[in-house]
Amino acid sequence: METNINICPKVAKCPIFQEGVLINKLTGESYKNLYCTRERHAECKRFIASKQCTKPIPVNVLPNSFLSIEEIVKRVNEGYWDKKK
Ligand code: SF4
Repeated sequence: METNINICPKVAKCPIFQEGVLINKLTGESYKNLYCTRERHAECKRFIASKQCTKPIPVNVLPNSFLSIEEIVKRVNEGYWDKKK
């Protein structure tokens, strides 16, 4: 990966970037290319919501999630996905 000042500051710990395997490997790579390594990371719902979450955001919340930022934050902070384990 080329050095890019627009890379998301979350890449070191974000499972989307680190694991990169969601529906399939190609999908993971697409998210990396569309969000993580571009200025567009600022539009990633994981990135935006992470600023308001008190817990890590689960891997099933995608950069272009259909959920609103408010809903993601609410669900993460209330442990919605913790119950699903
Ligand atoms: S998925 Fe979002 S939060 Fe995670 S590294 Fe990519 S842009 Fe950053």
